[in-house]
Amino acid sequence: MSYKNFPMVPRVVFGRGSFSQMNEIIEPKRLSIKAPFIFLIDDVFKGKAWLTSRIKLSYEDQLIYISSKEEPKTSQIDALVEQIILSGKERPSGIIGIGGGTLLDIAKAVSIMITNKGSANDYQGWDLVKNPAIYHVGVPTISGTGAEVSRTTVLTGVARKLGINSDYTPFDQVILDPELTKNVPKNQWFYTGMDCYIHCVESLQGTYLNAFSQAYGEKAYDLCKEIFLEDHLSLEENQNKLMMASWHGGMSIAYSQVGVAHAMSYGLSFLLGTKHGIGNCIVFNHLDEFYPEGVRLFKQMLSKHNIEIPQGLCSELSDGEFDTMIDVALSLEPLWENAIGKDWQKTITRSKLKSLYQKM
Ligand code: NAD
Ligand code: ZN
Repeated sequence: MSYKNFPMVPRVVFGRGSFSQMNEIIEPKRLSIKAPFIFLIDDVFKGKAWLTSRIKLSYEDQLIYISSKEEPKTSQIDALVEQIILSGKERPSGIIGIGGGTLLDIAKAVSIMITNKGSANDYQGWDLVKNPAIYHVGVPTISGTGAEVSRTTVLTGVARKLGINSDYTPFDQVILDPELTKNVPKNQWFYTGMDCYIHCVESLQGTYLNAFSQAYGEKAYDLCKEIFLEDHLSLEENQNKLMMASWHGGMSIAYSQVGVAHAMSYGLSFLLGTKHGIGNCIVFNHLDEFYPEGVRLFKQMLSKHNIEIPQGLCSELSDGEFDTMIDVALSLEPLWENAIGKDWQKTITRSKLKSLYQKM
């Protein structure tokens, strides 16, 4: 038995307004006046001076707005890296990603691909990255994915949706400023928040559970129940706690694994482009046989916040399309092994998955 030697984010700031410390935090990391910092920021913040005016651009620094309408693609990473390399005189001093899971993953992947040859496609998988990434900083503006602490950056490539999992992927610095989440639309708050809740359920109910992931998972699970089912929190406390729940939920799966909802949601995402948060909710809604208590509370959360889950997503799909989703879901073997156990293949058959997808 060999235990994972898990890399953690070495530096983190937490606090409302802490985003204003970013310039003083990164400036000592500037390699030269010709080596810029590249800020990658969700284009939802275009024209939002309360945030963008606090980013101080010096020398050759660049601010690049990026849409998070679609999940990140390997081709998008390759194009960004080329743009950054061609526009600068020297290799950048660092990449700063500001946004949700989408922007955080893009920042991680770009920082890796600046020092590694070829296409991001070549590095999807486990421990394929050869050279350390350049300095990279994550600033989440919505809470739930755990992308701010994780060892992966999830990309859709030519043939698959799979992360670049490596010791060089985690951020060198994270700035957790819950105030940045203040304008998140309610539905999105719920969907991305449920990603965290589902991480907890899948890790706590999984066969890979151990004291390390349980300690983080139980804390995040309790925080989610408080945030989504109770009424006593102020809006600010709610934002603060969800940001910490996301962090702990991410730490919990880092040392275990996710489960059925994630495996099936990857299938939806690959075929239909369904985004991670909402896709997880669409699937989880039908998983009471696997996670009875988790799904029961999830339904309470849905009705408390008047959230509608899209229905009929799979009603018009062909057999071939079902097969594609089933292939993607079944290929994620560690997720099934965590969820069901070593003999998962006995119960998780193609027809079982098809009947589940048909409900969605
Ligand atoms: P997201 O980054 O796609 O953002 C969702 C929406 O919220 C977007 O429309 C965005 O513009 C908007 N938004 C973000 N912050 C806002 C703010 N402060 N105010 C107003 N609007 C705001 O969503 P997400 O759910 O955080 O991330 C999903 C992505 O994360 C997927 O691509 C998924 O694959 C990835 N992911 C990665 C990991 C990991 O460990 N690397 C884990 C889970 C998910
Ligand atoms: Zn997730």
